[in-house]
Amino acid sequence: MTIQNHAGVDLVTRLASPDPTAAVVPLRMYVDGVWTEAEDGSTFDSYEPGTGRVWASLPRSGAIDVDRAVAAARRALDGEWSKVSAADRGRFLLRIAARVDHERDRLAVIESRDNGKPIREVRAEIDGIVRYFEYFAGVCQTVLGETHPQAASVFSYTRREPVGVVGAIVPWNSPLLMLAWKLCPALAGGNTLVLKPAEETSVSALVFAQLIEEVGLPAGVFNVVTGIGESAGAALVAHPDVDKIAFTGSTAVGRQIAATAAEDLKLVTFELGGKSPTLIFDDADLDAAVHRTAYGIFSAAGQSCQAASRIFVQERVHDEFLERFSALARRIRVGHPLAETTQMGSQISAQHRDKIAAYVESGLDEGATLVCGGTRPTDPRLTEGYYFTPTILDDVRPEMRMIREEIFGPVTGVATFTDEADALRQANNTEYGLAGSVWTRDIARGHRVAAGIQAGLIWVNTTRTINHLVPFGGYKQSGYGREGGLQVMEHYTRVKSVWVDLQQELPNWYGD
Ligand code: NAD
Repeated sequence: MTIQNHAGVDLVTRLASPDPTAAVVPLRMYVDGVWTEAEDGSTFDSYEPGTGRVWASLPRSGAIDVDRAVAAARRALDGEWSKVSAADRGRFLLRIAARVDHERDRLAVIESRDNGKPIREVRAEIDGIVRYFEYFAGVCQTVLGETHPQAASVFSYTRREPVGVVGAIVPWNSPLLMLAWKLCPALAGGNTLVLKPAEETSVSALVFAQLIEEVGLPAGVFNVVTGIGESAGAALVAHPDVDKIAFTGSTAVGRQIAATAAEDLKLVTFELGGKSPTLIFDDADLDAAVHRTAYGIFSAAGQSCQAASRIFVQERVHDEFLERFSALARRIRVGHPLAETTQMGSQISAQHRDKIAAYVESGLDEGATLVCGGTRPTDPRLTEGYYFTPTILDDVRPEMRMIREEIFGPVTGVATFTDEADALRQANNTEYGLAGSVWTRDIARGHRVAAGIQAGLIWVNTTRTINHLVPFGGYKQSGYGREGGLQVMEHYTRVKSVWVDLQQELPNWYGD
């Protein structure tokens, strides 16, 4: 297979072999099937969070570059891509799945270097991505219209058509997974897509573009413009020829995007921040609750929209839970993302790590009790990267900043509740509504509480479980629209209703 990228350089090979002495890799972005620099030649650096080193430089796109990508996506949409049947779109998705599966290990190294997540977590994520592509390959041929029970003289039906050019803007915490969540339904619905990855993690998106090139997806169907949110991202949102923005990121940026998109009434879907509650009742299996809740907050080093960042424990089991939970948190091995033994990797940047530390300080100032963590690790091997220790604060109260705002780090707050009503009242005392979990052996209570938590995704006796089959998305300020499951296709297709007169006997309305 001919790889045209970077004058014949195979990005997968080049980037999946960590070498501290390696030179910074100059990358180009992928627009209209061509690897290209920014129009004005400007670039920005990408850092490896695990080491704090610059490892790649990327084109810094401006409005002109975004315009070129949108124009390419429009040409593909109106041209070659519109002639590809649903079955053949499915074949492309299967080919992408196979390519990703084949490169699973090297792709995992690149993703782990790009965002600092432990390699074993990333491998599981990449396996999930393969499932997404396989699933949506099947979905392509299930996007159906309908007919209606009209009178014999009339026939009506609906067609599900692509929404058009999709602008996808994603964050840095699960870069490839977020890419897949948008690209899969976009392709299944017959759309074209311009991706603006997060500036912190654009490398893996470009490697992914190489895999896309290798499977022969027509030029312009998938484009990646790298750059800064306020310029490249904002230009994509404001572009008049973009039909839909699919955004995953912070609620603050989501609000700005909603305001801009409102000007020309673009379609939008938003996957935003979270402050998910975990409710542990006194009849819960505490072993499971301790273990899974730790996974809920400390996986991805807490940089997860679903993070279990507010924990409410029924009074009677508070002390026992906290003792076991904090003992586990202290044992978690924080380390280099590529080490197989690492259980928690680094934060995305020094700035983000310092913001997390400031939240911990604010909690202590406001009267919370530090149970464990709250500092950078002391291991001298970790001084270069952006590491922070698993942190638990007890005695948190609802007015504290660290419990109201999304920290997006390995920091959780613990409080007690008295009964079910109190648990629900505290759980729902937040502007967010992405997810929540409940721990109890009482089946009826599990279902009642699942119904009572105001969030788009509830786990009973588990947490942080997601896959391609089940819709994902928030209530309240965690966003709107759903990703995953068949439901996502509502957001990547639009309905056209067609009326046909079978009788051809027009009523003589204007005659005598
Ligand atoms: P962010 O909002 O700062 O950035 C997200 C993306 O938006 C990036 O690509 C960025 O470049 C771009 N962007 C920034 N400003 C922009 C602007 N003015 N116009 C257009 N694009 C702009 O978020 P982040 O810090 O990268 O990610 C963390 C956030 O993402 C957290 O709030 C987290 O909860 C959220 N998140 C949500 C989900 C979900 O599914 N609900 C999943 C992952 C992350």
